[in-house]
Amino acid sequence: MSRTILIVEDEQAIADSIAYALRTDGFVPRHVTLGEQALAVMRSSEAGAAPQLVVLDIGLPDMSGLEACRQLRQFSDVPVIFLTARSDEIDRIVGLEIGADDYVTKPFSPRELVARIRVILRRARAATMPPQPPADAGKPIVAGTPKFELRALEARVLFHGQPLDLTRYEYLLLKTLLESPGHVLSRTQLMERVWSGASDTLERTVDAHVKSLRAKLRAIDAQEEPIQTHRGLGYSLAGA
Ligand code: CA
Repeated sequence: MSRTILIVEDEQAIADSIAYALRTDGFVPRHVTLGEQALAVMRSSEAGAAPQLVVLDIGLPDMSGLEACRQLRQFSDVPVIFLTARSDEIDRIVGLEIGADDYVTKPFSPRELVARIRVILRRARAATMPPQPPADAGKPIVAGTPKFELRALEARVLFHGQPLDLTRYEYLLLKTLLESPGHVLSRTQLMERVWSGASDTLERTVDAHVKSLRAKLRAIDAQEEPIQTHRGLGYSLAGA
């Protein structure tokens, strides 16, 4: 598998320090300074040779990193870590739901960034590991409640028989709730189970994903609110 990490950053000194830390850790850095260049690299890379992860500055000369990520998401699931110079951009990263895996605020330690890259790549590998053939092959593995059907092998959830179009984290969040119907799970517990390894991701990431997940459930059934908020505690899936 490619060890290449794409750095998209117009400040040479920052790009150099990231590249140095990556090389020290055995990665192969590739550096571009424009959003369009990053998109071109990702589009033109052969499968298997494409960068494994993108470190994406938000303040780029040609387009915002947020816009670059939005365009990237139209054709790629590659993990993205944003670099941001302003803390008010963090709300936009979380609120826009553009599929960022993490972010770091400038100034940051390049070694800390590389440590996070390792965590994300480990998580991404775990999520894409081919499912083990079930012991009772042939019989569909189905779990859930009367309203929800979890098809873990397909990484898919059906709600009232309709497949939900979920992002990776929405799926993991709903799966976690489905595995303990009726139980209240705190935001911290959800962080640990869904975003395992990303200990410093903000708890409001959970809130943002719950919000988008609810909107998708409402699109199928506007009457119900299967995911219940417990103020100050967390969330639960209404029991069957
Ligand atoms: Ca910049």
